[in-house]
Amino acid sequence: MSYNGMRPVRVRFAPSPTGHLHLGGLRTALFDWLWARKTGGKFILRIEDTDRRRFDPESMDSLVSGLRWLGLEWDEGPDIGGPCAPYVQSQRQQIYKEKAEELVKRGAAYRCYCTPERLADMREEQRRAGRRTGYDRHCRNLSDEERSRCEAEGVPSVIRLAVPLEGVTVFSDLLRGDIEVENRQLQDEVLLKADGLPTYHLAAMVDDNVMEITHVLRGEEWLATAPVHRLIVDAFGWEMPVLVHLPVILDPSGKGKMSKRKKMVAGKEFLALVHEFQDSGYLPDAMFNFLTNVGWNFDPDQEVFSREEAIERFSLEEINPAAAALPYEKLDWLNGLYIRALTPSALKTALLPFLSRQLGVSETELVSDGKLDVLIPVIQERIKRLDEAAEWIDWAYVKSDAISYDDPKLLIGRKLDAGQSADILRTGARLLAEVEPFSAEVIHAAFREKADEIGVKAGSFFGPVRGAISGKKVSPPLFESIEALGRIETLQRIGHAVAFLEEQGALESG
Ligand code: GLU
Repeated sequence: MSYNGMRPVRVRFAPSPTGHLHLGGLRTALFDWLWARKTGGKFILRIEDTDRRRFDPESMDSLVSGLRWLGLEWDEGPDIGGPCAPYVQSQRQQIYKEKAEELVKRGAAYRCYCTPERLADMREEQRRAGRRTGYDRHCRNLSDEERSRCEAEGVPSVIRLAVPLEGVTVFSDLLRGDIEVENRQLQDEVLLKADGLPTYHLAAMVDDNVMEITHVLRGEEWLATAPVHRLIVDAFGWEMPVLVHLPVILDPSGKGKMSKRKKMVAGKEFLALVHEFQDSGYLPDAMFNFLTNVGWNFDPDQEVFSREEAIERFSLEEINPAAAALPYEKLDWLNGLYIRALTPSALKTALLPFLSRQLGVSETELVSDGKLDVLIPVIQERIKRLDEAAEWIDWAYVKSDAISYDDPKLLIGRKLDAGQSADILRTGARLLAEVEPFSAEVIHAAFREKADEIGVKAGSFFGPVRGAISGKKVSPPLFESIEALGRIETLQRIGHAVAFLEEQGALESG
């Protein structure tokens, strides 16, 4: 499909590798992807790494793995190439240099030889005088002789945009309409630095043109520089892509802009970095669903939707330019929902790396002992994140004699004393030694029958058994837990618990 009936849609996600990918960046990429998929266009990944001082090598992995995790595959990019390769700006230096020179020739840019010291003094003076700081255009008016002298002396220089001194620049944002800015508010921005590397302003405009980008989706923080971008594009005589400045994302309280401060989410601290959500066991589908609704809304009456539905319905015009909050409770709710919608076997696959890491048990062992096949269906309802599973079932993966009864009350049935509780446990053990088959359902029936027979309330009977096998007050349903543990281990644990109670009793009476 084309935009304006003319050019095929091409959008780019153009992160700077200066830190880990955060949810704001991921949301931009997601909207790019949705728009490309909806229009049959191309989604391009371009790495804007020309600020070498802020370059963080680790962030490349974070970017790539974050995008892949969410399922946002790109059609052209650094690793897969494409017609406009390379897609890493530091490998495209030559073109920016040529383009900057071209603007100098056209009279739309000029060389500036000011030293860092002069610039610092200038700023200091402006500050002292209470004036707006900014380049004073000293080199814009150098005579030809002065320029030649600087060149002959090899004075380092940058190339600056020669912003018109009067008049206005108008640019259009798809969500906000035409925006007019007085040129005297603008600065003669640097386009090419002394080290020969371009600034963002030049590199992004050149690449958007060369890569035939039709729509630029980027954070609202770039709105202020859009007039400068318009001037650069006009100076070359190029066509401006459609600009869509995406709403700022607020922190979950809806108050400040999403900051570097950590936020508590369901008892866990987050900086809103994508890998934190990945590592905590949010499912990509839940995150996809969640982020799609940050700044755009699928349908106020339908919270849950598939990727296909989102692609079908997505529209740039409907993006709401007002700041959007991140309602993390909704993310938890969605994640729980997506977890429950998985088949137990898909959930097992998703849980294996988490459990293996958290429980210190290899994935092979987790698969081969079969415990998960019984436990997963019963914890599926109870977890909202994959990293919550381990605390539900960790007791099943420790050695039987490592279960601690720090709180002896765990082994005492309601209205029973230690001796009676030990008796109850012995009764349970006798039952478990014989019951056939060793399945949750059959064990449950046998326990109920026995409780009636000996006149003990079910709770008083089951409680000590739960405590004995798990050392916990809260654990997954008892009979599935017993089945998962198996006859031998269950009996061993009950044996330990009885011995513990006997010892306690002996200590107390002795
Ligand atoms: N490299 C810029 C950033 O990381 C991209 C802005 C844009 O998309 O044009 O914020």
